[in-house]
Amino acid sequence: MQQDKPETLLSREEIGVRTARMAEEITEDYRGRDLVMIGVLKGAFVFLADLSRQVELPLEIDFVAVSSYGEDTRSSGVVKIIKDIDLEIAGKDVLLVEDIVDTGLTLKYLAGMLRDRGPASVEICALLNKPDARKVDIEIKYCGFDVPPKFVVGYGLDYAERYRQLPYVGVLEETEGSEGTD
Ligand code: 5GP
Repeated sequence: MQQDKPETLLSREEIGVRTARMAEEITEDYRGRDLVMIGVLKGAFVFLADLSRQVELPLEIDFVAVSSYGEDTRSSGVVKIIKDIDLEIAGKDVLLVEDIVDTGLTLKYLAGMLRDRGPASVEICALLNKPDARKVDIEIKYCGFDVPPKFVVGYGLDYAERYRQLPYVGVLEETEGSEGTD
């Protein structure tokens, strides 16, 4: 399934305009609060880098890494944490930043885990959302784009670790489903 140039779904210009708007909303909403942005590795690294640089507030950044998507997650909803955050989040306002929400299982689990640590708030910001694939109810406070149930790559998202560096979001041919490696 290697393609030199996946078909464009969202151009870098479209992503840039939407990301700037989301950063403005976050700047308004978190003024005077103690913001910690937590990116879910690896997929969110590009989005978090672009988004955070446009949030005009003091903030902290950390990352969490979870296990690859697999049957265990699908059936139990339990996600294996490969790398936990280093920061203390008690009393702080956490914004979980994710590349794409599919079933919602990963973020549901992560948000619950972080809420147990006593933050002032936990909200979710995702660049992409696949509403058709949702299995659990989660609120995405800041959502970039709804996308169809196709396998997307680029702007941080991979297929077998390739394509993360593409500056746009593209669709791989003849794909459906969710086989990124987080
Ligand atoms: P969820 O727990 O919401 O089902 O899973 C979200 C994770 O699945 C994302 O962080 C990502 O790693 C992976 N994923 C879901 N859909 C896609 C997709 O279309 N492309 C890629 N590359 N990964 C996806």
